[in-house]
Amino acid sequence: MKNLYFAILLLLSPFFVLSQHLYEIDLNKIEKDVLPVKMTLSKVPQSDQVTYSFPATVPGTYDTQDFGRFVLSMNAKTADGKNLKVKKQGNNSFIISDAKKLKYLEYTLEDIMDRKVKKHPIFDPVATNFEEGKNFLFNNGGIFGFFEGEEADPIEIKIVKPSQLYGSTSLPQTLSNSGQQHFKANSYHQLIDCPIMFSVPDTAQFYVGNTKVTISVFDVNGVPRAKHFYEVLKRDMQAIDEFLPDLPVDNYTFIVYVDDLSEVGEAFTGKMGIIKKIKLALRFRSLGLGALEHGNSSTYYLADFGPSVPSSIIKELSLDNQLSGAAIHEFMHILTPLGLHSQHIGNFNYTNPVMCKHLWLYEGVTEYFANLIKYKGGVISPEEYLNEMGDKLVQGLDFPITEMSFTEMSSNVLEEKYHEHYGQVYQRGAVLAMLLDAEIQRLTSGKKSLIDVMLTLNARYGANKSFDESTFIAELVNEVHPDLQNFFTQYVEGKNQWQPNDQLNYIGITYHDSLQEQDMLSIFTDNDVKHKANGIGIEQVITNVGPNEWAGLKVGDIINISDYREAFEPNGVKLKEGELAKLRVKRGKEFVTLDIKAKYGLKTVKHALRWTGK
Ligand SMILES: [Zn+2]
Repeated sequence: MKNLYFAILLLLSPFFVLSQHLYEIDLNKIEKDVLPVKMTLSKVPQSDQVTYSFPATVPGTYDTQDFGRFVLSMNAKTADGKNLKVKKQGNNSFIISDAKKLKYLEYTLEDIMDRKVKKHPIFDPVATNFEEGKNFLFNNGGIFGFFEGEEADPIEIKIVKPSQLYGSTSLPQTLSNSGQQHFKANSYHQLIDCPIMFSVPDTAQFYVGNTKVTISVFDVNGVPRAKHFYEVLKRDMQAIDEFLPDLPVDNYTFIVYVDDLSEVGEAFTGKMGIIKKIKLALRFRSLGLGALEHGNSSTYYLADFGPSVPSSIIKELSLDNQLSGAAIHEFMHILTPLGLHSQHIGNFNYTNPVMCKHLWLYEGVTEYFANLIKYKGGVISPEEYLNEMGDKLVQGLDFPITEMSFTEMSSNVLEEKYHEHYGQVYQRGAVLAMLLDAEIQRLTSGKKSLIDVMLTLNARYGANKSFDESTFIAELVNEVHPDLQNFFTQYVEGKNQWQPNDQLNYIGITYHDSLQEQDMLSIFTDNDVKHKANGIGIEQVITNVGPNEWAGLKVGDIINISDYREAFEPNGVKLKEGELAKLRVKRGKEFVTLDIKAKYGLKTVKHALRWTGK
């Protein structure tokens, strides 16, 4: 079928060429971060007025971008170069009058990464970057617009570039030499789905099964990274290959931009209460670090925090960890939403986007699979897996479930009141998917699991066919057991708090509200300290010294959390019973170092997941 389709395209090719809009960009003509673009129309517009727009949002982001905000000038020209009247409407649209005379557009664009906006800031993996002679990141919503109603038409792109740069993308190329690259998109949708990064090549390539994987990296300091990222991604891709019957694509490109955030790294020195905050910030995208999925690629914006990061958190903040944290998740998006989505994504409306109620599926199921794959593929241990899912469960409890259902948050996610809970798709959403997996296994006596059902539905729909937003849950239930409807009614579409053991016990996991476990004891309790913000960090000030105090603390002592972790968990490994911690404590104006014996005892853990019987 594939070859036949290809043959038809070839037969049609003379018409094909005539009917495409042509974009021409010369990367040498960048000046002060402003990039000029020329777009020549393939045909004469049929009406006197046409609208040329940039996306208000693009698939996968669930956020507002308003890319038209970064268009600095827009000129509409006749064949002999005369200007037509152009009026900007809203943030994203340009209305062109006397349009039957329109031959080409000339416009200029601003570099999005360098122009930070306060309202609706753009997540960096969706942004554009123009750096003369070094790097051009094209997330195409920020580069190319569309004539309304022509989103399905093919597009041709001619790029003139400095000879040292090369554009990595999953977009088909028709010509590539040292001075030029030509690309072809079969529609605006494909163009948006295929980012391009031009940089001095730092690439690696490998096969997993029959899938060709390409890694293309740009590091702002010029550090070569691709060879090393290859090791990380090869391990992750192999874990995916073990989980899925077949990798669902022939080729896949990882586009990675590494920024230098060593200034932030320096701020960690001695001020460690921030770690939890940073973790949250990374998750909730405040720092713009992260990634965005596409059909045959994904774009990453990662940070090198530099050499000042304390050893106790080096692993957590490492580039490997950032990349691995996102790569499996982004790749698994091929299953959903890329290969299984409702009409709101299938016929994506860039101007007035309609959000789906199925974020539990698109992000929740994807994030759950990413963790399950790491565990099953041996990237993390069974204990690390349950700790990670347990953390998500604890954070998922913050979702205001009695006020809004998960599907309600999802359908309204562009509104502020709901958007503030968007981050829960990776927390509560992932736990809902885990519970759903267990429930499917329970109801089918282990004959089916969530991945089986997803693969069946993915095969039924795929990238080019949409499911019905309103009947999808019933369709999924139909693949499993009538009683599964109750799970969706209660916990996904309803406002009821989950009862994890109802599902998890079947797969050998127990949820504990509260659990007593043998662990290293803290030298103070929450009641004995008050938290004090210091710069970007948090310090603990001792307010009370209890009768069991064994560390030699005095009221008024100040302890940095990073010093605490460094002393009791050097290099991330907890001291053993009786080993000595050397803790730096601020006492008055001086610093003293206390030698403290590590003690173990029964500790209460709240909302924990444990393997049953352990
Ligand atoms: Zn995602």
